[in-house]
Amino acid sequence: MRPPLCDVCDADVDPADSRSLVSCVRAADDPGLGDLPGHPAHQLWLCKAHRDEGAALGVSRTAMQVVVALREHPEPDADGRDDSGMTLHDAVALLRGALDRLASEHGVGDVERERTEAREWTPMDHVEPPWCPYVDRRRVRVVHDGVELELDEEYAHWNDDELARASATLRLQSPSGGFSFSVHTPGPSDEPPELEVIVTGHAPPWLLNAFGAPQPR
Ligand SMILES: [Zn+2]
Repeated sequence: MRPPLCDVCDADVDPADSRSLVSCVRAADDPGLGDLPGHPAHQLWLCKAHRDEGAALGVSRTAMQVVVALREHPEPDADGRDDSGMTLHDAVALLRGALDRLASEHGVGDVERERTEAREWTPMDHVEPPWCPYVDRRRVRVVHDGVELELDEEYAHWNDDELARASATLRLQSPSGGFSFSVHTPGPSDEPPELEVIVTGHAPPWLLNAFGAPQPR
């Protein structure tokens, strides 16, 4: 099981209350919210503020679709602020799920993934590591039998507390076509995020839907 935190807002949920665990449509190819053993992909932890709407949506939608819908139309905060919109964190979580789904759709779900993580320092004006800006990069890559699938995350920091910009790009090349799906945000991360989505090639409709991106006709 995943820890008892609301899948929409991260609030604590009461694991003893059966209403906290909400079932959604079970799709054979649904990656759910990640590959956590013992936690069915079609069930969500939802807090009191989200579980009723979530249960209603879950009748006709998958777990990931319910989370996206609830995040797009959140309860206004106590101060009345409506912080709708997806954060980069949400976007990256979705793209990781999308990578899993694409991997199984293209028959490379069981192929071992190359994972790389690197920090690149950017010395400037006589400021040397560890005090100068840096870029953290994370990559997950699957290459097998004509299919190349990868997710690149890039976080440019002025320092440990200040994010300058961030981006995540999901790329697929396969014999049947390919696409690139990028999400960018300027930092700092706690400002209302203005996510910019750039899509080239033929991204699958379910991915475009998840981001509310325009559908090609
Ligand atoms: Zn919640």
